[in-house]
Amino acid sequence: SYVNHLTFPLVTRHKKNHLIWIFKGAMRTDVLLMSPWLAPIMWEGTFNRDILNAQYRQKNFVVGVATFAVKKYVRFIEGFLGSANKFFLSGHRVNFYLFTDHPEKVPSMKLAPEKSLVIIPVQNYSRWQDISMNRMDIISNHIRTHWRYEVDYLYSMDIDVQMFEHIGVEIIDTLVGTISSWQYTKPRDSNSYERRPESRAAIPSGEGDFYYAASFYGGSVSEVYKLTTACFKGVTEDRANGIEAKWHEESHLNKYLLYHKPTRLLSPEYYWDEELIRPRIIRVKRLSSVRKDLKEVRF
Ligand code: UDP
Ligand code: MN
Repeated sequence: SYVNHLTFPLVTRHKKNHLIWIFKGAMRTDVLLMSPWLAPIMWEGTFNRDILNAQYRQKNFVVGVATFAVKKYVRFIEGFLGSANKFFLSGHRVNFYLFTDHPEKVPSMKLAPEKSLVIIPVQNYSRWQDISMNRMDIISNHIRTHWRYEVDYLYSMDIDVQMFEHIGVEIIDTLVGTISSWQYTKPRDSNSYERRPESRAAIPSGEGDFYYAASFYGGSVSEVYKLTTACFKGVTEDRANGIEAKWHEESHLNKYLLYHKPTRLLSPEYYWDEELIRPRIIRVKRLSSVRKDLKEVRF
């Protein structure tokens, strides 16, 4: 019975495998398991996927994934969808919403029966920064017109990524941010927040909790609506003031999540940057960026 894992010393001597497993999971002492505002941080070895799946299945949620493949980024569609079909919320209902300026270049792919793909035409912009930043606006508009009627939870993901391990229902919560893999390679105060007070993304020096990646965030449809609307408002005001935040919409996302704390955090397992050497605390690489020649792919 699950009561056993509340009685900590008894469980270690328990011979039933699953209880020992649960206990081992709670044993990670090498990483932070909870934020100071009590949001759990998801790490391999801290949860039992079978228990989470059984609970989640009773709710019959539909999850939407918003992703963009504009201009040369259409080349990443196949790797993204192929791996997400296998590893993203495996066995659960997911609608992938792919925004692209080249619908005719989307490869036809056979997805699992509980997965579906919706292709949405979108215009392109000449600057890659604008393509990236305008995602916030497109997502916020599409929530208002479609997603609030279609899905329960919504996640925004970069397309230039590939999944290698399960990303399951442990990511589902009201407001979810992913801790940037870069945070683990630098001391906290040398992180990348926008500090210039002229930008609407500015975070005063000395402030900030985690540094979050714009490549993967999400939550309930209503929370993602508030987030994307607020971030794009910041982008628009910066444009009017002739300033662009250091890391574009990621800077605005970080400002938003500082003042609207995420209810759950994903460890860098959920977005590993291939530029970095993986430390031992990252036991699995669930998703990582695909190496790209920036000069070639963005122009
Ligand atoms: N993107 C795109 N076409 C572009 C530039 C960006 O479709 O020309 C989209 C794509 O979904 C990409 C995301 O914007 O994953 C973020 O841009 P990028 O991956 O280049 O940023 P990085 O992860 O390198 O910071
Ligand atoms: Mn990317």
